[in-house]
Amino acid sequence: MRFSRLLVPTTKETPNDATLASHIFLIRGGFIQSVSGSGLYNFLPLGKRVLDKVKHVVKDELDKAGCQEVSLSFVTPASLWEESGRYEKYGKELLRFKDRKDNEFVLGPTHEEMMVNLVRQSVKSYKQLPLNLYQINLKFRDEIRPRFGLMRGREFLMKDGYSFHTTEEDMKREFALMEETYKKIFTRLGLEFRVVEADSGAIGGSGSKEFMVLADSGEDTIVVCDACEYGANIEAAVRQEKPCEASVPTLAQEKVHTPDITTMEALSAFFNVDPYYFVKTVAMKALYDEGKTQIVLFALRGSDELQEVKACNAVDANDLVEATEEELAEVGLVAGYMSPLNAPEGVRVVLDENLKGAVEMICGANEEGYHLTGQKLEDTDMDHADLVAVQEGDLCACCGAPLRYTKGIEAGHIFQLGTQYSEPLGATFLDENGKSQPMVMGTYGIGVSRLLAAIIEQNHDEKGCIWTKESAPFALYIMVSNIKDDTQLDFGEKLYTQAQEAGIDVVFDDRKDRFGAKMKDYELIGIPHAVIIGKKLAEGKVEFVTRKGMEKEEVDADAIFDIVKERLCSSSS
Ligand code: ATP
Ligand code: MG
Repeated sequence: MRFSRLLVPTTKETPNDATLASHIFLIRGGFIQSVSGSGLYNFLPLGKRVLDKVKHVVKDELDKAGCQEVSLSFVTPASLWEESGRYEKYGKELLRFKDRKDNEFVLGPTHEEMMVNLVRQSVKSYKQLPLNLYQINLKFRDEIRPRFGLMRGREFLMKDGYSFHTTEEDMKREFALMEETYKKIFTRLGLEFRVVEADSGAIGGSGSKEFMVLADSGEDTIVVCDACEYGANIEAAVRQEKPCEASVPTLAQEKVHTPDITTMEALSAFFNVDPYYFVKTVAMKALYDEGKTQIVLFALRGSDELQEVKACNAVDANDLVEATEEELAEVGLVAGYMSPLNAPEGVRVVLDENLKGAVEMICGANEEGYHLTGQKLEDTDMDHADLVAVQEGDLCACCGAPLRYTKGIEAGHIFQLGTQYSEPLGATFLDENGKSQPMVMGTYGIGVSRLLAAIIEQNHDEKGCIWTKESAPFALYIMVSNIKDDTQLDFGEKLYTQAQEAGIDVVFDDRKDRFGAKMKDYELIGIPHAVIIGKKLAEGKVEFVTRKGMEKEEVDADAIFDIVKERLCSSSS
């Protein structure tokens, strides 16, 4: 490809809304273009090339693992979403619309329903299973805050795969195969990543792992152990039970006047008791289908923090929002003095597992200005769930070493779905005995367009992008410093032809622009290797450049083609 013919509108301007390096460089480098600034992007030739490279790696590894590519309609009938029960549950991210005949549709934010629909029509017997079908296709989610460029768009490219099995055991085998396949994909793309335990979110089911690209700019907090392999999204992280070194309080079972003392710090000082022996009670409003809501009290030890996603799952709600003082007052609760014991009628209570059998506890009295001391939670029949947000320094449940936080970009997610969709949608097969059974499913996603951002978050410097070997729009860039110098131009043309003939993905910068401007473009675009043909050609020398670290080597012009071949084959990134 000749640069002079390529549409690459590079710019010095940083877009107003861009803070992340990937967002800035993908726009400035002419890879993508924002459409009205609301999470919609056009891919320009360079961006499309990178997207295709990433897609190729994804497809290649999936095909090798025995998956089959299909392409499903992006517009999906609302009736399928009603069958699965997600039409309402999915919330405002689901874009709903009608056609001219008043038929309702949604733009697919994920395609479980569509894929199950495809399979239920064509698979009838155990003999046709297992199956793993995937597509690399557009998704639309009407995200509340689209931001960070390709990282969180509204329309984006996803690889979504779904597997169908006769048994749970076979689904687990495929799940493990997908984990290995995803590792190969992210490794080939040159990414530093970690596989972590994840929450199952709106899709539900149990057994789910996320592939986190490690980057300070990541939106997800992940909890990792350096001593063993354990890693988990904060939403799903667990820890060893935390002991308390402070002595057990010996307060009588009574009601104590605690005017204006409501924070954990103030209460701990007032009673001279470690927060471990307090019940922290958090009130939330749980949102359900058809606009139903319920006030829920989540109780945990005063030394712990509530993890809202765990809390939301514990009450099977669509979402949790903070309850206002008025809403609390309506059900008879007083902020600062709430307690799971003797909670008012109609208020649901969930206790953290660490409160099981707790004694000598202090909690609110569900009455303004009072707390109760010497309370037992041991013989309550209230619901229990893991509600705790693991803190840095908590101990790993696998090996006992301290855990720490790090940041990650969720680039992939694999779930064990079970029969959550096959049952309501009636995707059944006849087993060996002619008995009808629901198919057991797994689902596997990769944020293909998000990967472009993730690659740049991990691979850039102050000048621009540094694409990894398998993601780069071109493998080699050849620049002629002064296009008016016929010797330089001829040499460049010859090398360009040679490289093309050798099957190297090469771009030839034959533009009339000044050397400095061309160099800036090269640095911004970030092709892994370059050959710069300049004045020194007269002395038989050209420059071989490696974008990472901008290492420049003066080499013999005669040997350049061999050097290029050798370097491009050997370099791993
Ligand atoms: P997130 O927690 O980041 O919102 P998610 O868990 O909702 O993502 P999944 O339903 O697991 O996303 O979708 C599969 C993959 O699609 C994700 O792992 C992510 O890489 C990608 N993805 C999800 N939402 C977006 C988005 N708005 N823009 C770009 N990629 C996305
Ligand atoms: Mg996810």
